[in-house]
Amino acid sequence: MLIAGFMPESFVDWRGKIVATIFTYGCNFRCPFCHNYTLVTEKPERLMSPEEIIEKVENLKEWIDGVCITGGEPMLHEDIVEFIKELSRITQVKLDTNGSFPDRLREALPYVSYVAMDIKAPKERYEELAGAKVDISKIDESIQIIKNKARDYEFRTTAVPVLSKEDFRKIAEWLSEAKRYVIQQYSTQGGTLRREYAKLRPYNIEFLQEICREIKPSFRECLVANL
Ligand code: SF4
Repeated sequence: MLIAGFMPESFVDWRGKIVATIFTYGCNFRCPFCHNYTLVTEKPERLMSPEEIIEKVENLKEWIDGVCITGGEPMLHEDIVEFIKELSRITQVKLDTNGSFPDRLREALPYVSYVAMDIKAPKERYEELAGAKVDISKIDESIQIIKNKARDYEFRTTAVPVLSKEDFRKIAEWLSEAKRYVIQQYSTQGGTLRREYAKLRPYNIEFLQEICREIKPSFRECLVANL
């Protein structure tokens, strides 16, 4: 495990809960709009060990509702399932993932209370928005695993202002009948992996809400977040 950071208290990483957030280092994608790109491209001088994190979570457990494991891409790490298993003995675990490691995801799910999987774009634009070669069959497999096996979950798309309403319609068709879909407002705070994406102006909220209303019939719940 390569763990780059730990935040003892977060109100935004698991809707409605107070969590400690664990940031893993490294990602197999290079999303041009990524604002966590330091966790993707710049290996920190000091990495934290899983033991160190377990101890911190143990000390905090009375004060938090759970932990959120995010990145980077947490499932990139071979020993992630063991780590999640250990954390789940102490508190509830939320996992953020880009969905490209379905086998590890399947193994981890029994120990995960909530999973949030990114859907970067409709299939035909996936590689453009992920900034990397993507095996769509693995993304598809993760979607099915989550729909069928996750205790609770959401699929979410960052509303990068290069995605059109039609792109969201295609995503909705792809994810059809999923429990929850979240359209996340685009943010350039802290910069973006590719500089030109920092210049893009986020869509206005009314437009995102209009998309949400339109695609809502495909989901049990559809919402616009990070306002
Ligand atoms: S936004 Fe993309 S590049 Fe950044 S951590 Fe997530 S999957 Fe990786």
